[in-house]
Amino acid sequence: MSSGFGGFGGGSGGFGRRPGGGGPPAGGLPPGGGPPAGGPPGGGPPGGVPPGGGGPPNLHAVPPPSAAATAPALDHDTGLTPPRRPSARGRFISDVIVELGFVPADRVQAAVEEARTSGRTAEQVLLENGALSSDQLARATAERFGLHHVDLNIYKADLGAANLIPSQAARRFTAVPVGFDEDKKLLVAMVDPSNVLALDDMKLLTGQELRPVVASPDDIAALISRMSRLDDAVAEAVQEEDDDLDAAVTDIRESAEDAPIIKLVNSIIAQGVEEGASDLHFEPDGRDMRVRFRIDGVLSESTTIPRRMVAGTVSRIKIMADLDISERRLPQDGRVGLKVEGHAVDIRIVTMPGVHGEGVVMRLLDKDQALVSLDKLGMAPEQHGLFDKAFRQAYGAVLVTGPTGSGKSTTLYAALNAINSVDKNIITIEDPVEYQLPGINQLQVNHKAGLTFAQGLRSMLRADPDVIMVGEIRDGETARIAIESALTGHLVLSTLHTNDAASAITRLTEMGIEPFLTSSAVDCVVAQRLARKLCSTCKRRTMLSVEALREAGFHAAYDVEAYEPAGCGRCGGTGYKGRIGLYEVMINSDEIRALTIARASSDEIVAVAKEQGMRPLRDDGLDKVRQGLTSIAEVTRVS
Ligand SMILES: [Zn+2]
Repeated sequence: MSSGFGGFGGGSGGFGRRPGGGGPPAGGLPPGGGPPAGGPPGGGPPGGVPPGGGGPPNLHAVPPPSAAATAPALDHDTGLTPPRRPSARGRFISDVIVELGFVPADRVQAAVEEARTSGRTAEQVLLENGALSSDQLARATAERFGLHHVDLNIYKADLGAANLIPSQAARRFTAVPVGFDEDKKLLVAMVDPSNVLALDDMKLLTGQELRPVVASPDDIAALISRMSRLDDAVAEAVQEEDDDLDAAVTDIRESAEDAPIIKLVNSIIAQGVEEGASDLHFEPDGRDMRVRFRIDGVLSESTTIPRRMVAGTVSRIKIMADLDISERRLPQDGRVGLKVEGHAVDIRIVTMPGVHGEGVVMRLLDKDQALVSLDKLGMAPEQHGLFDKAFRQAYGAVLVTGPTGSGKSTTLYAALNAINSVDKNIITIEDPVEYQLPGINQLQVNHKAGLTFAQGLRSMLRADPDVIMVGEIRDGETARIAIESALTGHLVLSTLHTNDAASAITRLTEMGIEPFLTSSAVDCVVAQRLARKLCSTCKRRTMLSVEALREAGFHAAYDVEAYEPAGCGRCGGTGYKGRIGLYEVMINSDEIRALTIARASSDEIVAVAKEQGMRPLRDDGLDKVRQGLTSIAEVTRVS
């Protein structure tokens, strides 16, 4: 994940994704305005000699002035380029342009002459005749003032910072806050850092200490318009629902004081949806609030909400979900339906009081993406055949196991969708209802109203269902009703929180179900995981040795040709894009039924299941590594 992370459209000034863990915060600017730690003392080397290639990563070789205009290399990790000298004050920008090798000296001299007669600046002349690009001018301006240059196509702008000033003001100043440095100073990307009035105004507006960095006018304009777009993406949906929904939402939109907070919350949600996040975590640390996105199952930092906006942000989110704003000590649970860029997105919101203040977790349920076919999720044909046969039976129990976030409900939805027809009465009880299937009665668990899985299940049975889907078997009572239903002519689909298929059998016994009931009710158990899929644009070939594979616990007889993650703009520098399921399908054979009754351990059950042809989860994972779909590291991580 070293180079070119992004995920932003070219030139759109979008936000890239920060590479996961370990990276410096907010673009990793060193504190203060001086050269970065480890840099050569006293600024750049004398005489414009480029620093050696072995230098620290944020110093880059700059070619010596030459006839060919060559741009200095920029930092692909952060998009920030420090100045070669702490300050070049007193020098003309035209000299800096020559020194950086952007335009040959004679051409610059000609522009200086022309500028003198035409009443323009030399830079303007060079821009107009195409000798200099606006990016190069921004780079030279940064150098001239001894400031960092920021390439907003690469730098991950922080929504919390960017929302600190209204977009009209940002346009007026041609400046936009993009993040915080380690001293908590607000980094402001500006076209003209000598605009002291703009700096003063922004200091007043934001209440923050500022640290200017230089960006091109195109980049700044693109970022400002993206900010407005992210805000509008959600604002429209709120408007749509105003008619039948809480007036409170309308009220708060009209209050000018709260407008930046609404804008911020909307932008964060819109960005989460755009990046395909499943959860947005708002975590207070006693001062600021950190926002992290879970994307393809992995959390990464996204935004910092400054201290003075933290309380407002939490209140705003509570209002959206119709929760009690004044209740700060007890967790609350609510939901809100939004349309984001035309997508119907259901957001489940949970507030969590903690030692550093109140946190919030938003779970995004993208209804348009909940229903994916099993082939598409990566279930191999043989396994799919076995599973398909099991859920097409008239009665019995089919269970899907795995940890939270392993895609169990997606698998059940796919099964329900496959058997959904008018001649079948299908009822579900879920927590929450993630996807609405046409023609199916779906009941939502409601702890506040006392509706648990067990109670919902009991009332469902009175409605004469053929097929029952129970979101999760969490307790003995739910287990008992589910197993009894499976034995009395219903097809029961449900999930259990166990690591492998065989453990589902022993878990039911632990929950107090008589083994002879489990043995006759359960027909098929699927264990599954979701692994991140390698980005097809940047994945790299590699060879996995037998030794390494065995060491990692895989059965291998030969070296395996495989791929490993690299990182590119398309995948946000992570090397992964999207996810794929790993599956283990266990059919309850007569032998396994006998073992169940004998209260055998899950290890004994696994051994027999493997003898009878069950392919374990990790072997399915290794197959997907061979096919170049995922990496060995991912399979090891999830299984
Ligand atoms: Zn990639």
